[in-house]
Amino acid sequence: QQDLMQNAETSGVQLTVDVPDQPVTVSGDPALLRSVVFNLTENAIKYSAPDSHVQMELTTEPGEAVIRIRDDGPGIAAEDQERIFERFYRVDKSRSRQLGGTGLGLAIVKNAVRLHGGTVSVSSEPGKGSVFEVRLPMMEERDGQAEA
Ligand code: ATP
Ligand code: MG
Repeated sequence: QQDLMQNAETSGVQLTVDVPDQPVTVSGDPALLRSVVFNLTENAIKYSAPDSHVQMELTTEPGEAVIRIRDDGPGIAAEDQERIFERFYRVDKSRSRQLGGTGLGLAIVKNAVRLHGGTVSVSSEPGKGSVFEVRLPMMEERDGQAEA
């Protein structure tokens, strides 16, 4: 997260992070789950204009942790939305290559989320930014106390 803050700063993108007061616990591989958030946030920053805004938000719904990463960047056309989670798929090849992309980030995200029993989806319109949503099953609370 610290790295991304710096990443955002150097590219002039404003990054805000909203998380609940109580810790949210999901079970799984911490490094892999971090890479999910990292990849999505990296994309949001990378594909957005320098003066734009990226929001990372964590909320909970019954039995699920919901992470949304929202940007006001270029957006993604409907026909590309179905394909961006494929390995090596990039929407604008020249632009993505210029930005150093291999097209693997979202494939890794999808795989990691699936390994944790969750889902990832995108909702976007060209010119109107993108929202990536990750849903992960939450750990059972014992005696109403979630473990950190
Ligand atoms: P890598 O993540 O391996 O460095 P990448 O960013 O090109 O490379 P993905 O993260 O898999 O690959 O993303 C696939 C493609 O989806 C990107 O090349 C880009 O065209 C598009 N994309 C992903 N996130 C966004 C976003 N937030 N806004 C607009 N386009 C996006
Ligand atoms: Mg990427």
